[in-house]
Amino acid sequence: MNATRPVGVRRHNLGLVLSHLAVTGPSSRAQIAAAVGLTKAGVSSIAADLIARRLVAEPGRRTAGEAGRPGSVLVVDGAGCAGIGLEVNVDYLAACVVDLARRTRFHRIDAAVDPRSPKRTLTRLAHVARQARDAATAQGLTVGGVGVALPGLVDPGTGVLLHAPNLGWHDVHVAPLLADALDVDAARVELDNEANLAASAELWFGDGGAWGDYLHVSGEIGVGAGIVRDGALARGSHGFAGEVGHLSIDPRGPVCGCGARGCVERYCGQEAILRAAGVDARPTTSTGRPDGSLARLLAALEAGRVRPARAVGRAGEALGRGVAGAVNVLDVDTVVLGGIYSRLAPWLVGPFTDSLRRNTFAVRWARTRVEVSRLGPDAAVRGAAGLTVHRVLTDPASLSPLVAG
Ligand SMILES: [Zn+2]
Repeated sequence: MNATRPVGVRRHNLGLVLSHLAVTGPSSRAQIAAAVGLTKAGVSSIAADLIARRLVAEPGRRTAGEAGRPGSVLVVDGAGCAGIGLEVNVDYLAACVVDLARRTRFHRIDAAVDPRSPKRTLTRLAHVARQARDAATAQGLTVGGVGVALPGLVDPGTGVLLHAPNLGWHDVHVAPLLADALDVDAARVELDNEANLAASAELWFGDGGAWGDYLHVSGEIGVGAGIVRDGALARGSHGFAGEVGHLSIDPRGPVCGCGARGCVERYCGQEAILRAAGVDARPTTSTGRPDGSLARLLAALEAGRVRPARAVGRAGEALGRGVAGAVNVLDVDTVVLGGIYSRLAPWLVGPFTDSLRRNTFAVRWARTRVEVSRLGPDAAVRGAAGLTVHRVLTDPASLSPLVAG
Protein backbone atom coordinates (compact mmCIF):
# COMPACT_ATOMS: atom_id res chain seq x y z
CA MET A 1 0.00 0.00 0.00
CA ASN A 2 1.19 3.49 -0.83
CA ALA A 3 2.18 5.09 2.48
CA THR A 4 1.45 8.64 1.23
CA ARG A 5 -2.14 7.87 0.25
CA PRO A 6 -3.74 8.31 3.71
CA VAL A 7 -2.07 11.75 4.02
CA GLY A 8 -3.53 12.72 0.63
CA VAL A 9 -6.97 11.44 1.62
CA ARG A 10 -6.89 13.30 4.93
CA ARG A 11 -5.78 16.50 3.18
CA HIS A 12 -8.65 16.09 0.72
CA ASN A 13 -11.14 15.49 3.57
CA LEU A 14 -9.95 18.61 5.44
CA GLY A 15 -10.90 20.65 2.35
CA LEU A 16 -14.14 18.71 1.88
CA VAL A 17 -15.38 19.52 5.40
CA LEU A 18 -14.18 23.13 5.49
CA SER A 19 -15.54 24.08 2.05
CA HIS A 20 -18.85 22.39 2.91
CA LEU A 21 -19.10 24.52 6.08
CA ALA A 22 -18.25 27.64 4.08
CA VAL A 23 -21.10 26.97 1.64
CA THR A 24 -23.83 25.71 4.00
CA GLY A 25 -23.10 27.69 7.18
CA PRO A 26 -23.36 26.36 10.76
CA SER A 27 -23.70 22.55 10.76
CA SER A 28 -23.43 19.71 13.28
CA ARG A 29 -20.90 16.90 12.80
CA ALA A 30 -23.76 14.52 11.95
CA GLN A 31 -25.13 16.92 9.30
CA ILE A 32 -21.68 17.30 7.76
CA ALA A 33 -21.12 13.52 7.78
CA ALA A 34 -24.43 12.92 6.00
CA ALA A 35 -23.75 15.62 3.42
CA VAL A 36 -20.15 14.81 2.48
CA GLY A 37 -20.29 11.01 2.82
CA LEU A 38 -17.86 10.53 5.74
CA THR A 39 -18.52 8.74 9.05
CA LYS A 40 -19.38 10.88 12.09
CA ALA A 41 -16.14 9.71 13.75
CA GLY A 42 -14.23 10.71 10.61
CA VAL A 43 -15.83 14.19 10.65
CA SER A 44 -15.06 14.54 14.38
CA SER A 45 -11.39 13.81 13.73
CA ILE A 46 -11.23 16.23 10.78
CA ALA A 47 -13.10 18.89 12.78
CA ALA A 48 -10.64 18.58 15.69
CA ASP A 49 -7.79 19.15 13.23
CA LEU A 50 -9.52 22.20 11.68
CA ILE A 51 -10.27 23.65 15.14
CA ALA A 52 -6.60 23.22 16.11
CA ARG A 53 -5.60 25.08 12.93
CA ARG A 54 -8.04 27.93 13.90
CA LEU A 55 -10.01 27.44 10.70
CA VAL A 56 -13.19 26.12 12.34
CA ALA A 57 -14.85 27.27 15.57
CA GLU A 58 -17.41 25.58 17.79
CA PRO A 59 -19.41 28.40 19.40
CA GLY A 60 -21.11 25.99 21.85
CA ARG A 61 -17.80 24.85 23.31
CA ARG A 62 -17.07 26.85 26.45
CA THR A 63 -13.44 26.13 27.38
CA ALA A 64 -10.46 24.52 25.73
CA GLY A 65 -10.40 20.76 26.21
CA GLU A 66 -14.11 20.56 27.07
CA ALA A 67 -16.15 18.56 24.62
CA GLY A 68 -18.88 20.46 22.80
CA ARG A 69 -22.54 19.79 23.61
CA PRO A 70 -24.00 16.88 21.72
CA GLY A 71 -25.18 18.23 18.39
CA SER A 72 -23.36 21.54 18.83
CA VAL A 73 -22.61 23.29 15.57
CA LEU A 74 -19.38 24.06 13.80
CA VAL A 75 -18.74 27.26 11.84
CA VAL A 76 -15.90 28.62 9.72
CA ASP A 77 -13.63 30.54 12.10
CA GLY A 78 -13.33 34.12 10.82
CA ALA A 79 -10.82 34.98 13.55
CA GLY A 80 -8.00 32.70 12.31
CA CYS A 81 -6.84 33.33 8.76
CA ALA A 82 -7.13 36.04 6.10
CA GLY A 83 -6.00 36.97 2.61
CA ILE A 84 -4.71 40.34 1.42
CA GLY A 85 -6.13 41.76 -1.82
CA LEU A 86 -4.38 44.51 -3.78
CA GLU A 87 -5.42 46.40 -6.90
CA VAL A 88 -3.63 48.69 -9.33
CA ASN A 89 -5.88 50.89 -11.46
CA VAL A 90 -5.39 53.99 -13.59
CA ASP A 91 -6.05 56.48 -10.80
CA TYR A 92 -5.94 54.53 -7.54
CA LEU A 93 -4.36 51.71 -5.57
CA ALA A 94 -6.49 49.60 -3.24
CA ALA A 95 -5.82 47.08 -0.47
CA CYS A 96 -8.13 44.96 1.63
CA VAL A 97 -8.02 42.12 4.15
CA VAL A 98 -10.75 39.47 3.96
CA ASP A 99 -11.05 36.75 6.63
CA LEU A 100 -12.08 33.13 6.14
CA ALA A 101 -15.71 33.96 7.01
CA ARG A 102 -15.51 36.39 4.04
CA ARG A 103 -15.73 39.51 6.16
CA THR A 104 -13.72 42.54 5.05
CA ARG A 105 -11.42 43.47 7.97
CA PHE A 106 -9.52 46.33 6.32
CA HIS A 107 -10.01 48.43 3.19
CA ARG A 108 -7.89 51.33 2.01
CA ILE A 109 -7.82 53.41 -1.17
CA ASP A 110 -4.76 55.42 -2.18
CA ALA A 111 -6.07 57.80 -4.82
CA ALA A 112 -3.03 60.05 -5.32
CA VAL A 113 -1.52 57.81 -7.96
CA ASP A 114 0.33 58.44 -11.18
CA PRO A 115 0.87 54.93 -12.54
CA ARG A 116 3.36 55.90 -15.28
CA SER A 117 6.32 54.46 -13.39
CA PRO A 118 5.70 50.77 -12.57
CA LYS A 119 8.51 50.67 -10.00
CA ARG A 120 7.31 53.76 -8.10
CA THR A 121 3.71 52.53 -8.25
CA LEU A 122 4.61 49.07 -6.93
CA THR A 123 6.74 50.56 -4.13
CA ARG A 124 3.68 52.57 -3.13
CA LEU A 125 1.47 49.49 -3.44
CA ALA A 126 3.84 47.59 -1.14
CA HIS A 127 3.41 50.40 1.41
CA VAL A 128 -0.39 49.98 1.32
CA ALA A 129 0.07 46.19 1.48
CA ARG A 130 2.19 46.54 4.64
CA GLN A 131 -0.60 48.61 6.21
CA ALA A 132 -3.03 45.79 5.35
CA ARG A 133 -0.67 43.17 6.80
CA ASP A 134 -0.21 45.19 10.02
CA ALA A 135 -4.01 45.61 10.35
CA ALA A 136 -4.47 41.84 9.94
CA THR A 137 -1.77 41.05 12.49
CA ALA A 138 -3.22 43.55 14.97
CA GLN A 139 -6.56 41.71 14.69
CA GLY A 140 -4.87 38.37 15.44
CA LEU A 141 -5.25 37.09 11.87
CA THR A 142 -2.73 34.86 10.10
CA VAL A 143 -2.19 36.16 6.55
CA GLY A 144 -2.08 33.24 4.11
CA GLY A 145 -1.24 35.05 0.86
CA VAL A 146 -1.47 38.15 -1.31
CA GLY A 147 -3.54 38.50 -4.50
CA VAL A 148 -3.20 41.37 -6.97
CA ALA A 149 -5.84 42.58 -9.46
CA LEU A 150 -4.42 44.21 -12.59
CA PRO A 151 -6.09 45.83 -15.60
CA GLY A 152 -4.37 43.83 -18.32
CA LEU A 153 -3.05 40.51 -19.60
CA VAL A 154 -1.36 38.58 -16.82
CA ASP A 155 0.81 35.45 -16.70
CA PRO A 156 -0.13 34.01 -13.29
CA GLY A 157 2.62 31.37 -13.58
CA THR A 158 5.50 33.86 -13.72
CA GLY A 159 3.84 36.77 -11.91
CA VAL A 160 4.42 39.04 -14.92
CA LEU A 161 1.96 41.65 -16.16
CA LEU A 162 2.35 41.26 -19.93
CA HIS A 163 0.33 44.17 -21.28
CA ALA A 164 -1.86 46.83 -19.64
CA PRO A 165 -2.63 49.51 -22.25
CA ASN A 166 -4.53 51.82 -19.87
CA LEU A 167 -1.56 51.87 -17.46
CA GLY A 168 1.02 51.93 -20.28
CA TRP A 169 2.76 48.92 -18.66
CA HIS A 170 4.39 46.05 -20.59
CA ASP A 171 6.30 43.04 -19.23
CA VAL A 172 6.36 44.25 -15.64
CA HIS A 173 7.54 41.62 -13.12
CA VAL A 174 4.88 42.55 -10.58
CA ALA A 175 5.07 39.51 -8.26
CA PRO A 176 8.90 39.56 -7.81
CA LEU A 177 8.99 43.37 -7.34
CA LEU A 178 6.16 43.33 -4.84
CA ALA A 179 7.47 40.26 -2.98
CA ASP A 180 10.85 41.96 -2.69
CA ALA A 181 9.29 45.12 -1.26
CA LEU A 182 7.21 43.05 1.18
CA ASP A 183 10.10 40.71 2.01
CA VAL A 184 8.15 37.54 1.19
CA ASP A 185 8.59 34.73 -1.34
CA ALA A 186 7.30 35.71 -4.84
CA ALA A 187 5.30 32.45 -4.92
CA ARG A 188 3.07 33.94 -2.18
CA VAL A 189 1.95 36.78 -4.49
CA GLU A 190 -0.71 35.73 -7.02
CA LEU A 191 -1.71 37.96 -9.93
CA ASP A 192 -4.84 37.93 -12.04
CA ASN A 193 -6.73 40.10 -14.43
CA GLU A 194 -9.25 42.43 -12.71
CA ALA A 195 -12.18 41.16 -14.82
CA ASN A 196 -11.39 37.55 -13.87
CA LEU A 197 -11.24 38.50 -10.19
CA ALA A 198 -14.50 40.49 -10.36
CA ALA A 199 -16.17 37.40 -11.93
CA SER A 200 -14.72 35.14 -9.20
CA ALA A 201 -15.80 37.62 -6.50
CA GLU A 202 -19.41 37.03 -7.57
CA LEU A 203 -18.97 33.34 -6.72
CA TRP A 204 -17.24 33.98 -3.40
CA PHE A 205 -19.00 37.13 -2.13
CA GLY A 206 -21.99 37.78 -4.41
CA ASP A 207 -24.89 36.00 -6.10
CA GLY A 208 -22.77 33.90 -8.50
CA GLY A 209 -23.84 30.59 -6.95
CA ALA A 210 -27.38 31.09 -8.31
CA TRP A 211 -26.47 31.95 -11.90
CA GLY A 212 -25.30 28.63 -13.38
CA ASP A 213 -22.61 29.17 -16.01
CA TYR A 214 -22.13 32.89 -16.53
CA LEU A 215 -20.24 35.57 -18.42
CA HIS A 216 -19.44 38.51 -16.14
CA VAL A 217 -18.89 41.70 -18.18
CA SER A 218 -17.15 44.54 -16.34
CA GLY A 219 -17.28 48.04 -17.73
CA GLU A 220 -14.48 50.27 -16.49
CA ILE A 221 -12.06 52.44 -18.43
CA GLY A 222 -11.74 49.30 -20.58
CA VAL A 223 -14.23 46.47 -21.01
CA GLY A 224 -13.33 42.99 -19.72
CA ALA A 225 -15.11 39.76 -18.91
CA GLY A 226 -14.66 36.61 -16.85
CA ILE A 227 -16.20 33.27 -17.83
CA VAL A 228 -17.44 31.00 -15.02
CA ARG A 229 -18.22 27.36 -15.83
CA ASP A 230 -19.18 24.66 -13.30
CA GLY A 231 -18.45 27.03 -10.42
CA ALA A 232 -14.91 27.91 -11.52
CA LEU A 233 -13.22 30.50 -13.69
CA ALA A 234 -12.52 29.32 -17.27
CA ARG A 235 -9.28 31.03 -18.27
CA GLY A 236 -8.67 29.64 -21.74
CA SER A 237 -5.50 27.89 -22.91
CA HIS A 238 -3.19 30.82 -22.09
CA GLY A 239 -5.22 32.62 -19.41
CA PHE A 240 -6.40 35.29 -21.85
CA ALA A 241 -10.09 34.31 -22.24
CA GLY A 242 -12.83 36.91 -21.81
CA GLU A 243 -11.46 39.86 -23.81
CA VAL A 244 -14.97 40.89 -24.82
CA GLY A 245 -13.81 44.52 -25.13
CA HIS A 246 -11.81 43.57 -28.21
CA LEU A 247 -14.55 41.76 -30.11
CA SER A 248 -14.94 43.74 -33.33
CA ILE A 249 -18.55 44.73 -34.02
CA ASP A 250 -17.79 46.97 -37.04
CA PRO A 251 -14.87 46.31 -39.41
CA ARG A 252 -15.11 49.96 -40.61
CA GLY A 253 -15.30 51.35 -37.09
CA PRO A 254 -12.69 53.46 -35.27
CA VAL A 255 -9.21 52.03 -34.71
CA CYS A 256 -8.75 50.56 -31.22
CA GLY A 257 -5.62 50.69 -29.07
CA CYS A 258 -5.19 46.96 -29.83
CA GLY A 259 -4.80 47.70 -33.57
CA ALA A 260 -8.15 46.25 -34.71
CA ARG A 261 -11.13 48.31 -35.85
CA GLY A 262 -14.56 48.71 -34.28
CA CYS A 263 -13.86 46.94 -30.99
CA VAL A 264 -16.63 46.87 -28.34
CA GLU A 265 -14.43 49.05 -26.11
CA ARG A 266 -14.56 51.88 -28.66
CA TYR A 267 -18.36 52.04 -28.24
CA CYS A 268 -18.94 50.79 -24.68
CA GLY A 269 -15.81 51.76 -22.71
CA GLN A 270 -16.22 54.66 -20.30
CA GLU A 271 -14.41 57.19 -22.52
CA ALA A 272 -16.63 56.39 -25.53
CA ILE A 273 -19.83 56.68 -23.45
CA LEU A 274 -18.71 59.99 -21.90
CA ARG A 275 -17.81 61.48 -25.27
CA ALA A 276 -21.13 60.39 -26.84
CA ALA A 277 -22.99 61.77 -23.80
CA GLY A 278 -21.22 65.15 -24.12
CA VAL A 279 -20.40 65.08 -20.41
CA ASP A 280 -16.65 64.83 -19.97
CA ALA A 281 -14.30 62.84 -22.18
CA ARG A 282 -11.59 62.40 -19.54
CA PRO A 283 -12.46 59.11 -17.83
CA THR A 284 -11.74 58.64 -14.15
CA THR A 285 -12.75 55.71 -11.98
CA SER A 286 -15.50 56.15 -9.39
CA THR A 287 -13.08 54.76 -6.77
CA GLY A 288 -10.16 57.06 -7.59
CA ARG A 289 -12.38 60.11 -8.15
CA PRO A 290 -15.82 59.67 -6.55
CA ASP A 291 -16.80 63.14 -7.84
CA GLY A 292 -15.30 62.48 -11.30
CA SER A 293 -16.66 61.76 -14.75
CA LEU A 294 -18.97 58.86 -13.84
CA ALA A 295 -20.64 60.94 -11.10
CA ARG A 296 -21.21 63.75 -13.64
CA LEU A 297 -22.68 61.30 -16.16
CA LEU A 298 -25.02 59.83 -13.51
CA ALA A 299 -26.12 63.32 -12.44
CA ALA A 300 -26.97 64.17 -16.06
CA LEU A 301 -28.91 60.90 -16.46
CA GLU A 302 -30.81 61.43 -13.23
CA ALA A 303 -31.67 64.98 -14.33
CA GLY A 304 -33.39 63.42 -17.34
CA ARG A 305 -31.08 64.86 -19.97
CA VAL A 306 -31.76 63.30 -23.37
CA ARG A 307 -28.30 63.12 -24.94
CA PRO A 308 -26.64 61.17 -22.10
CA ALA A 309 -29.60 58.76 -21.92
CA ARG A 310 -29.39 58.14 -25.67
CA ALA A 311 -25.62 57.66 -25.46
CA VAL A 312 -25.91 55.05 -22.70
CA GLY A 313 -28.76 53.33 -24.58
CA ARG A 314 -26.65 53.15 -27.75
CA ALA A 315 -23.70 51.78 -25.74
CA GLY A 316 -26.05 49.12 -24.32
CA GLU A 317 -27.18 48.20 -27.82
CA ALA A 318 -23.58 47.90 -29.05
CA LEU A 319 -22.56 45.90 -25.96
CA GLY A 320 -25.49 43.53 -26.57
CA ARG A 321 -24.24 42.88 -30.12
CA GLY A 322 -20.72 42.13 -28.91
CA VAL A 323 -21.80 40.00 -25.95
CA ALA A 324 -24.22 38.04 -28.21
CA GLY A 325 -21.16 36.96 -30.21
CA ALA A 326 -19.64 35.57 -27.00
CA VAL A 327 -22.94 33.94 -25.95
CA ASN A 328 -23.28 32.27 -29.37
CA VAL A 329 -19.88 30.63 -28.75
CA LEU A 330 -20.08 29.96 -24.98
CA ASP A 331 -23.80 29.10 -24.47
CA VAL A 332 -23.92 30.39 -20.86
CA ASP A 333 -27.02 30.56 -18.61
CA THR A 334 -26.49 34.16 -17.49
CA VAL A 335 -24.79 37.39 -18.52
CA VAL A 336 -23.88 39.62 -15.56
CA LEU A 337 -23.25 43.35 -15.95
CA GLY A 338 -20.71 44.73 -13.45
CA GLY A 339 -18.43 47.73 -12.91
CA ILE A 340 -19.86 50.99 -14.32
CA TYR A 341 -22.59 49.00 -16.12
CA SER A 342 -24.25 48.20 -12.79
CA ARG A 343 -24.37 51.94 -11.99
CA LEU A 344 -25.75 52.70 -15.48
CA ALA A 345 -28.21 49.77 -15.34
CA PRO A 346 -31.49 51.79 -15.34
CA TRP A 347 -30.56 53.30 -18.73
CA LEU A 348 -28.47 50.43 -20.15
CA VAL A 349 -30.11 47.09 -19.32
CA GLY A 350 -33.20 47.49 -21.57
CA PRO A 351 -31.31 48.28 -24.82
CA PHE A 352 -28.61 45.75 -23.88
CA THR A 353 -31.10 42.91 -23.31
CA ASP A 354 -33.06 43.66 -26.53
CA SER A 355 -29.86 43.70 -28.55
CA LEU A 356 -28.49 40.56 -26.86
CA ARG A 357 -31.70 38.65 -27.65
CA ARG A 358 -31.89 39.94 -31.27
CA ASN A 359 -28.34 38.79 -31.93
CA THR A 360 -28.30 35.44 -30.08
CA PHE A 361 -28.78 32.57 -32.53
CA ALA A 362 -30.48 30.05 -30.18
CA VAL A 363 -32.65 32.61 -28.35
CA ARG A 364 -35.92 30.74 -29.03
CA TRP A 365 -34.64 27.68 -27.17
CA ALA A 366 -32.26 29.11 -24.56
CA ARG A 367 -33.02 32.60 -23.28
CA THR A 368 -29.89 33.95 -21.58
CA ARG A 369 -30.68 35.66 -18.25
CA VAL A 370 -29.34 39.17 -17.70
CA GLU A 371 -28.35 40.09 -14.13
CA VAL A 372 -26.81 43.22 -12.63
CA SER A 373 -23.95 42.78 -10.14
CA ARG A 374 -24.70 43.85 -6.58
CA LEU A 375 -21.00 43.98 -5.66
CA GLY A 376 -19.58 47.47 -5.63
CA PRO A 377 -16.48 48.83 -7.37
CA ASP A 378 -14.32 46.90 -4.86
CA ALA A 379 -15.27 43.54 -6.49
CA ALA A 380 -11.81 43.05 -8.07
CA VAL A 381 -9.78 43.80 -4.91
CA ARG A 382 -12.07 41.55 -2.82
CA GLY A 383 -11.67 38.88 -5.50
CA ALA A 384 -7.89 39.28 -5.16
CA ALA A 385 -8.11 38.62 -1.39
CA GLY A 386 -10.53 35.81 -2.23
CA LEU A 387 -7.75 33.92 -4.04
CA THR A 388 -6.19 33.11 -0.65
CA VAL A 389 -9.54 32.61 1.13
CA HIS A 390 -10.76 30.20 -1.56
CA ARG A 391 -7.46 28.29 -1.62
CA VAL A 392 -7.49 27.80 2.17
CA LEU A 393 -11.18 26.79 2.23
CA THR A 394 -10.62 24.11 -0.44
CA ASP A 395 -7.14 23.01 0.74
CA PRO A 396 -6.63 23.99 4.41
CA ALA A 397 -3.32 22.11 4.56
CA SER A 398 -1.86 24.60 2.05
CA LEU A 399 -2.02 27.40 4.66
CA SER A 400 1.30 28.66 5.91
CA PRO A 401 1.69 32.13 7.41
CA LEU A 402 3.04 34.86 5.14
CA VAL A 403 5.05 36.15 8.07
CA ALA A 404 6.49 33.69 10.61
CA GLY A 405 5.55 34.31 14.24
ZN1 LIG B 1 -9.44 46.43 -29.51
